[in-house]
Amino acid sequence: MSQKGNILVLVLNCGSSSVKFQLYDMPRERCLAKGIVEKIGQSGSLLHYRAKDKKPYKSKVKAPDHTSAVELVIKSLLDAPRGVISFADEIGVVGHRVVHGGEEFKESTLVNKKVLNAIRRFSKLAPLHNPPNLAGIHACRHLLPSLAQVAVFDTAFHQSMRSYAYLYGLPYHIYKKYKIRRYGFHGSSHRYVSRKASVMLKRPFGSLKIITCHLGNGCSITAVNKGESLDTSMGFTPLEGLVMGTRCGDIDAAAVLYLMKKKEMNISQTDRLLNERSGLLGLSESSNDMRDILRLARRGDQKARRAIDVFVYRIKKYIGAYIAAMNGCDVIVFTAGIGENAGYVRQQIKRGISALISKFKISVLVIPTNEELMIARDAYTIVKKKRKR
Ligand code: ADP
Repeated sequence: MSQKGNILVLVLNCGSSSVKFQLYDMPRERCLAKGIVEKIGQSGSLLHYRAKDKKPYKSKVKAPDHTSAVELVIKSLLDAPRGVISFADEIGVVGHRVVHGGEEFKESTLVNKKVLNAIRRFSKLAPLHNPPNLAGIHACRHLLPSLAQVAVFDTAFHQSMRSYAYLYGLPYHIYKKYKIRRYGFHGSSHRYVSRKASVMLKRPFGSLKIITCHLGNGCSITAVNKGESLDTSMGFTPLEGLVMGTRCGDIDAAAVLYLMKKKEMNISQTDRLLNERSGLLGLSESSNDMRDILRLARRGDQKARRAIDVFVYRIKKYIGAYIAAMNGCDVIVFTAGIGENAGYVRQQIKRGISALISKFKISVLVIPTNEELMIARDAYTIVKKKRKR
């Protein structure tokens, strides 16, 4: 598989119970194989594997931890006849998705001891995400000790935000001491689709005012001004901003305090309510899945209708705010599961802001996101530079 000058990049996205992977041939940006190991640490772990031009397969596996899951990934890439490499050392670098890079990482970076310690420190800010991300890095260090590893942070793209956009109206010492501020997430997706929009429009990235709407299970919207994230809807955690599958998005903090008092809810119950039982699921009282909700709404279900209305209205409001924040807008991009596929939702949003679209001559694009490719690009660029030194 290896050709002169190319580098194979293994992209890993390690969650608490799954490892998603893709092997990219760079710089040609060809995905050679991809898949997922799911139910890690549980009974019935499964490996789904698909190599380019070959029949996909699914098999029951033993994956008690992330190291064994990563070992399975490497083995499946090696296994004839559906393997795509002959030796593990054909892999030139591993690119890891890391959710939280705090204020320290403004771009992707080679992993070393200092970086590992920082990722561990930021686990406090992302307790569900950074620990499995770290586990994936440790697994690779253990299995492939001489291999370069690159961390690509969800928060990094948004580190360009100025203090007026990232500070909350709290006492400043709270920010200084506890680092409570807007960080923003889905950075690789917003970065990928905004760059792609500039390529599609044949206009320089640095000259455009772009609003990117990542509407998946998690939803966020970003104002990309002249190539930089100026503002984004997710905040200190991915709870803030738009209404999502199960997250409420923006809410008056005092309403949460009121509820905790009134219902005598403790911290973890409140956390569950806001993160897991709200959003589309809470409003529709039926599903967190937009496909189900659209189906129900078509049949006249009023609760599903209401959920779509709140979802759409919140997006329109953010688009308006970001047009003001950038003092204009050239293009709005829709991406991720809902953004790419739910034509009805897009149409409702577009209809609601039609006056703005025509006034500012805004292009509206649908661009499939590809966070893995963004990770592969960064890992490739960094390792190539390292080899040149
Ligand atoms: P994740 O954030 O987990 O990566 P996705 O980007 O896959 O999620 O988005 C999941 C959301 O996309 C779900 O609400 C799902 O219902 C919605 N979705 C996927 N396909 C369609 C479709 N054809 N029509 C409407 N909604 C869709």
